[in-house]
Amino acid sequence: MKIAVFPGSFDPITVGHVDLVKRALPLFDKVVVAVGVNSTKKNLFTLDQRLDWLRQVFIQHPSVEIDFFQNLTAHYCQRIGAKYLIRGLRTSSDFEYEKTISQLNHIVGKGIETVFFIAQPEYSHISSTIVREIITGGGDASPFLPPEIIIGPAA
Ligand code: ADP
Repeated sequence: MKIAVFPGSFDPITVGHVDLVKRALPLFDKVVVAVGVNSTKKNLFTLDQRLDWLRQVFIQHPSVEIDFFQNLTAHYCQRIGAKYLIRGLRTSSDFEYEKTISQLNHIVGKGIETVFFIAQPEYSHISSTIVREIITGGGDASPFLPPEIIIGPAA
């Protein structure tokens, strides 16, 4: 069974993430969207909230599983029997960063391959960082969010 892990913070999930999962689905038997829990990273939304949104967004897709993990992504992949990672590339700086991580994961994960998807032009400007800035600034982030996610203006 070909299992791929799509790791990320998903703080929150955006239409860019959803596009990646949908494009990856035909290539794998199962895609696990996994929230990496990193205690040094300050998140806007709680882990429970992020997982809840992910479950809602992919409820119609039986081959998508939602999970979370601590520590190394490569070890998580080994634990669940996943040999592939999915990541997205929006810019050349994404590429430089992702290149190193994928080379490390290939060693630490003993052959784990990272499959990269180039962002579609209509999504390449979208990031969770921008969405968080819009939300905390009191703006409307709905054009960047899957329809299942309703976030009111920040208090
Ligand atoms: P991380 O904190 O690990 O970067 P993110 O949730 O921000 O987690 O992103 C997870 C993955 O999704 C990354 O590979 C990122 O490049 C990719 N990604 C995020 N937004 C987009 C987008 N708009 N189009 C394509 N890929 C994206």
